[in-house]
Amino acid sequence: MKKPETAPKNSALDLPVLDASSALLTSCVHCGFCLEVCPTYQQSGDENNSPRGRLRLWRQEAQGRLEPDPWTVQYTQECVGCLACEPACPARVPYGEILEEVRHQHVHSGRHLPPLSLRLAAWLAARPRLFSLVGLPLRVFRRAGLLPHRLLFAGQPAVLESTAAYAARLMARQRPTGPRVALLTGCLMEAVFREINFATVRVLIRNNLQVVVPEQQGCCGAMHEHLGLAAVEQLREQNRQAFLAADVAAVVANSSGCGLSTMKTLGGDLPVRDVLDFLGETGVRANSPRSDKARVYVDLPCHLVHGQKLPGIPQSVLDATGYRWELAPRARDCCGSGGVYNLQQPGNARQILQGKSQFLNTAEGDPVILATSNHVCMMQWQSAGRAGLVQRPYQVRHVIQLLDTGDVT
Ligand code: SF4
Ligand code: SF4
Repeated sequence: MKKPETAPKNSALDLPVLDASSALLTSCVHCGFCLEVCPTYQQSGDENNSPRGRLRLWRQEAQGRLEPDPWTVQYTQECVGCLACEPACPARVPYGEILEEVRHQHVHSGRHLPPLSLRLAAWLAARPRLFSLVGLPLRVFRRAGLLPHRLLFAGQPAVLESTAAYAARLMARQRPTGPRVALLTGCLMEAVFREINFATVRVLIRNNLQVVVPEQQGCCGAMHEHLGLAAVEQLREQNRQAFLAADVAAVVANSSGCGLSTMKTLGGDLPVRDVLDFLGETGVRANSPRSDKARVYVDLPCHLVHGQKLPGIPQSVLDATGYRWELAPRARDCCGSGGVYNLQQPGNARQILQGKSQFLNTAEGDPVILATSNHVCMMQWQSAGRAGLVQRPYQVRHVIQLLDTGDVT
């Protein structure tokens, strides 16, 4: 089926303008195929809380058939942004593009103001050095095994050394000769969870890939996009300049949400690849099979399978971890993390996670490891224990950490 005609662009954000004439808003054929994949419709049973219902509200407002209504804002805010509705849609409605513009319009027109704490977090995210400084106590806490928030998962981040400095140090020592790639380090990832960036550097170098970490890069803008903030365009332009100047074959991302946002940033100018998908293509050195009782349950981030439209994490990569693994039940369904959704709508996010996380209570393995490839999903899975949804010990890991043998120094 033909994709709807491209609408005029919003000059501030390079997004389609949604007015009464927008082809995007009229492209829904009301078939309802999206309803059964939508977590908020499945939870609420409310048509307005479904893709079809939200599109109808936005269209009726744009056409002047519905007065601007606080409920429209409410239903927009309740969308997780998981994008599960896009592949389910036979009319190929570009729901994600429309959602991004609607969120922006609601904030720009003053109909919605994100909470001060999240606006402050977004302001900090746009200033990576300051964010890294503010994140320093959290890195210290995590190193010490203290997890002062329900979303913080265990890890051993470097407190002072940045990923850029670490990559330069390892590159000078190991001198890999393969293709040169740039690593997207992210804002929250670098400020709080940088051990995952370090593991990514080690795995790439172990597989003979040259790694550069452009220091001029910043936040990918995904958080600003979720919040409807206009700063997203400035951030994208900054990263665009940083990565295009890096002279690399590809940009690799170890967070599917940040990767998706960077794909929008670079368009077709430079390939942006999920690091696990990239390793599946280039080939990955396999670890020795583990003989212990550990079992890995792999969950697939929405922004990997629905956003980036990848079939999943390559089997060759998961086999190379050496662990016994299987896909988690309902692995392609949303876990409720949704960027900042689990902070904005914690009740809904918990409900969505509840159904998905129950299997961990009876899952076999010692230890039981829940592995995924997006730090925000990792935070959400971590919260299942704190919220009492999972009553037995389990670990939350990034798949790249399972590939990392730590022997590249
Ligand atoms: S993005 Fe996810 S939560 Fe939002 S309408 Fe689509 S399926 Fe539902
Ligand atoms: S599947 Fe697509 S066309 Fe059908 S109701 Fe949902 S958004 Fe509309």
